Amino acid sequence: MDFPSIKRGRLKTLQVNLGYKCNQSCLHCHVNASPFRTEMMNPKNISLIPKVINSYAIETLDITGGAPEMHPLFKELVNEACKLGVKIIDRCNLTILDEPGYQDLPEYLAKAKVSIIASLPCYEEENVNKQRGKDVFRKSINVLRILNKLGYGKNDETLSLDLVYNPIGAFLPPPQESLEKEYKYILKERYGIEFNNLLVLTNMPINRFSNYLQKEGKLNSYQSMLESNHNSKNLESVMCKSTLSVDWQGNLFDCDFNQQLGVKSNLFPRTLRDLSQGNILMQGKEITVDSHCFGCTAGNGSSCGGSLT
Ligand code: SF4
Ligand code: SF4
Repeated sequence: MDFPSIKRGRLKTLQVNLGYKCNQSCLHCHVNASPFRTEMMNPKNISLIPKVINSYAIETLDITGGAPEMHPLFKELVNEACKLGVKIIDRCNLTILDEPGYQDLPEYLAKAKVSIIASLPCYEEENVNKQRGKDVFRKSINVLRILNKLGYGKNDETLSLDLVYNPIGAFLPPPQESLEKEYKYILKERYGIEFNNLLVLTNMPINRFSNYLQKEGKLNSYQSMLESNHNSKNLESVMCKSTLSVDWQGNLFDCDFNQQLGVKSNLFPRTLRDLSQGNILMQGKEITVDSHCFGCTAGNGSSCGGSLT
């Protein structure tokens, strides 16, 4: 089954991958991040980001990695983006905020009004540790408590704290709304933790998760499951329609998944540098799609912002 053709809408979000270094090496990680990765965006490309945000009236800077906070220029980038008044999202693994050398970050992020989107694939300790590594659940809970104390996850909409769920296995996620209620109830009851939204994501059959499926002999059946659950209503809101993804070398892709697969975009501009040269029209341009795209449209749909329908 071929994935239907889709075209770009207005560019609203610049999603920037600052590098693959991470203090964790999770089983499902689609960027194969780990403490041993050394790839990092260079200062020249970092300096182009505010310029691009300005030129294209971009509404949201979505910062990801690896653990993006491990980039030495993370705070400089956030400071510059703050001056432009855009919404800033830190895709945070939580545990980094309690590592030596990074413990001032929760307060810094709160002062800068940075929104936090953090992975917590389950409210059960055993399941989280199985996917994300030894002791990750306990550390994540500690950091969530710190963030709550700073006002994150409560009624202040400038301090939003969203959690991310993805299935611990080869199946589609359950409906977002009901799972969010369950998460909120259990995290509050057991740990006194509050958060704003639960974003439910489908695991993409690429990189580490694809290797896992291959090892388990489930890769073909997982792909067939995604295709048989394709919901064409989701095509209107897949994230590539309004987002551009930038890799650590400054190359542009239609989305983070294409970036990880090295699937080049049909667009000119090709790099941050090209983009910074002027106001280039991208609306209406064809998006590069492939079989993994069914991961975005299966069932209730999936994007960096959670379910689509
Ligand atoms: S925390 Fe995120 S970036 Fe780091 S290894 Fe896990 S999934 Fe990958
Ligand atoms: S995988 Fe990327 S290109 Fe494909 S539909 Fe999803 S967001 Fe769009």
